[in-house]
Amino acid sequence: MEHLSNRIKNMAESATLAMAAKAREFKEKGIDVISLSLGEPDFKTPKHIQEGAKEAIDSEKYFAYPPVNGYADLRQAISDKFKRENGLDYTPNQIVVSNGAKQSIVNVMLSLVNPGDEVIVLSPFWVSYTAAIEMAEGIPVLVKGGLENDFKATAEQVKAAITDKTRVIIFSSPCNPTGSVFTKEELTAIAEVVRDREGLYVISDEIYEHINFSGAHASIGTMPGMLDKTITINGMAKGFAMTGWRVGFIGAPTWIAKACNKIQGQVTSANCSIAQRATLTALTSDLGPTKAMTEEYGRRRALVHQLLNDIPGVKTNMPQGAFYFFPDLSSYFGKSDGTTTINNASELCIYLLENAHVSLVTGEAFGDENCVRLSYAASEENLREALKRIKDTLAKLS
Ligand code: GLU
Repeated sequence: MEHLSNRIKNMAESATLAMAAKAREFKEKGIDVISLSLGEPDFKTPKHIQEGAKEAIDSEKYFAYPPVNGYADLRQAISDKFKRENGLDYTPNQIVVSNGAKQSIVNVMLSLVNPGDEVIVLSPFWVSYTAAIEMAEGIPVLVKGGLENDFKATAEQVKAAITDKTRVIIFSSPCNPTGSVFTKEELTAIAEVVRDREGLYVISDEIYEHINFSGAHASIGTMPGMLDKTITINGMAKGFAMTGWRVGFIGAPTWIAKACNKIQGQVTSANCSIAQRATLTALTSDLGPTKAMTEEYGRRRALVHQLLNDIPGVKTNMPQGAFYFFPDLSSYFGKSDGTTTINNASELCIYLLENAHVSLVTGEAFGDENCVRLSYAASEENLREALKRIKDTLAKLS
């Protein structure tokens, strides 16, 4: 007999990780699946960062519990990074290092949201935002940007969604899953809506900051009056190919950083010591390897854009950042191969997994039921083969 809490019973499984697990199952059965479901760099963590970890182990100085919010020198390096790269003035006391940006987001939600509070989520959105809000017993309020507006919700829409119960607005730029990048002007307009509202905060998820083809990354925390209202999320997974190291961090008003520190002290004690030392190396070294990876993503972006546009009935924007496409495949809904009828994006993803042996993630999980998410953090060879398989399989539907 199971007696699970309502909290866990009501929680959605992470759609990205669930699809990745399904692809793995297929692979274990010997099926040659090309996995474009997980947003995970296919590059290795750059050598100098690996060396940073090795040196930390060899020094035998980092085997004990680190400070809950992270080593002081690392928090200083993060504070410097925020200043240097983003123009954000967070002191080391305003930084908390966690087990991935995901934990950072959960810490902040638990710190700010009371049961029944509303959290505005700019949609399409990353799957774990709504789960984090619901963990805090808050209510996600989705404000949707459509393909016609490059998937970007506007300041007017945000303004219309704000109520007395709104506590937080959360979004990512560059955006997972759409790759859209909010411009300085768009963020300024959102900041204007938020600035004078007491008790309203913005969580700005900037984990894809370095994978940006638009030439400009803007942080909403730099807009006038916004630093005291903004929690900036970042981490090492994407720009530094360090998904498995699990390092995320926030810059936040001191009282929010203290609250996150308190939660973390009860939940994980701290982030892994060796991963923190590797992060220090990464943040105090040249960004050459990060830039080289981004250039390679740029080449793949152009390739995938061309291959997607070769498939009849596919509508897509040209993403300006991250490593995802979020094409609208709804023209295939209602079609059949004679045996199976495709009714929605989830069924289409399963169909493509079973018949094309390519794994994607349904757009339903990200707030747009017409779309699927494709991660192009994969080799050119795999991308070409995957897009060919998708095209051939979709051609069987009529
Ligand atoms: N953030 C990545 C993604 O969206 C990794 C998986 C996850 O944490 O959701 O695919």
